Amino acid sequence: MSDVLLSGWGRTAPTRAHVVEVSDAAHVAAALLHAPARGLIARGLGRSYGDPAQNAGGDVLDITGLTGITFDAANGVATVAAGVSLDALMRECTPQGWWVPVTPGTRQVTVGGAIAADVHGKNHHVDGTFTAHVARMALSLPDGTLVNVYPGDALFNATAGGMGLTGVVVEADIQLLPITTALARVDTDRFDDLDSLMAAMASGDDQYRYSVAWVDAGTRGTLGRGILIRGDHANAADIPERKRTLAFDPGTLATVPALVPNGLLNKASITALNEAWFRKAPRQRRDELQSLTAFFHPLDMARDWNRMYGPRGFLQYQFVVPDSAGHVVQRTLEALRMIGATSFLTVLKRFGAEGPGLLSFPRPGWTLALDIPTGVPGLAAVLDSLDELVIEGGGRLYLAKDSRMTPRTLELTYPRLAQFRALRAEIDPNRRLNSDLARRLDL
Ligand SMILES: Cc1cc2nc3c(=O)[nH]c(=O)nc-3n(C[C@H](O)[C@H](O)[C@H](O)COP(=O)(O)OP(=O)(O)OC[C@H]3O[C@@H](n4cnc5c(N)ncnc54)[C@H](O)[C@@H]3O)c2cc1C
Repeated sequence: MSDVLLSGWGRTAPTRAHVVEVSDAAHVAAALLHAPARGLIARGLGRSYGDPAQNAGGDVLDITGLTGITFDAANGVATVAAGVSLDALMRECTPQGWWVPVTPGTRQVTVGGAIAADVHGKNHHVDGTFTAHVARMALSLPDGTLVNVYPGDALFNATAGGMGLTGVVVEADIQLLPITTALARVDTDRFDDLDSLMAAMASGDDQYRYSVAWVDAGTRGTLGRGILIRGDHANAADIPERKRTLAFDPGTLATVPALVPNGLLNKASITALNEAWFRKAPRQRRDELQSLTAFFHPLDMARDWNRMYGPRGFLQYQFVVPDSAGHVVQRTLEALRMIGATSFLTVLKRFGAEGPGLLSFPRPGWTLALDIPTGVPGLAAVLDSLDELVIEGGGRLYLAKDSRMTPRTLELTYPRLAQFRALRAEIDPNRRLNSDLARRLDL
């Protein structure tokens, strides 16, 4: 056990906690039983942007020591320890013809973290969230009891998206997706403005399993011009034999050095990157074969790229709004451009039906995510005003990305919050599980 200063991926608001390493369910139970007054929270690979895997003055359980995969290639069910990363799961199962059915923009997340944030991928409109593919979770409750929970159980629904506050996930059974190649068949379209991009997504996304748009949020060029990338798994039968492969061998191209000055990614450099990115994309390309790693995880090519923002860090602003409030997408881009808050990684997606997770983020409509360097003058006030638009529009912000939401915003946007709180009060009256996020938002 050691005292460590921890932050999220955005590297803002670090706090110090005792890190407890665990390697099996008995360790997890013991750690829960011995949790200090400030409580304990599980931490996976620290890829959430804000403070959900931090616990100032308390314990943080490093679950990456919970390893082990048992895979039945006959039916595609993987029994996976919660500390296993999606990267490791993919390396194990892809060569055997199975794919992780929901993957975020990075595969460097743990199964526990994927469940606790109930993560989504580019296929939410078809396949829902991560926990829609979880058949069982083994959960260590705050009192140390180990229980199995199943879809439909109240505890399952509270744990899916529950940010680690209902128990520590120790293991899960996941139903994987059969594939015949480790390739994606990809269509790319470039749009000169936001309206035509959004119209194409609204009318055409249903024809694809995966869809994501990169939006130019620099300070030059037409606001919201973008590149739409859509596709599905390539079928072995449809491609030449010499190109067929189930090999999964992602490389890491570069590591960003530990000491990067503040301001390397600033208004000018982000605008230039946006411009170059937009120009590089073809106006239209069809049926391009890409490796699954290039298609799903281009960001994983650079290790520790969050350091590019310098020690001051950055935040991600991600909201979802129903179709009726689609204008919030444009208003957000406009408001941020007005104060010179540029974002290089600006991603627009459409979500499908809402799942049963009490605090799960996705609901039908548009979701926009922007990475913004902190320290831009006026940023806090603009984001506060955008929160109001999201509230008015019937949307919400994503807890796994958040570092600044207020309890009021949470109350107004998560209609099943009271149910979550009631269940938490019942199973954890003494708040053995606690985090900086939970205290900040009174979860
Ligand atoms: C580059 C990048 C791209 C991303 N893209 C997406 C995306 O497309 N879609 C998306 O949905 N998310 C995305 N994310 C967010 C990321 O998927 C989530 O934050 C995820 O929870 C991170 O997993 P982790 O293992 O790093 O968990 P951590 O960040 O360490 O923890 C996150 C939460 O999970 C809880 N937790 C971790 N392990 C357990 C456990 N065993 N039991 C109970 N609770 C646990 C923690 O307490 C905490 O509340 C992205 C993040 C990055 C950095």
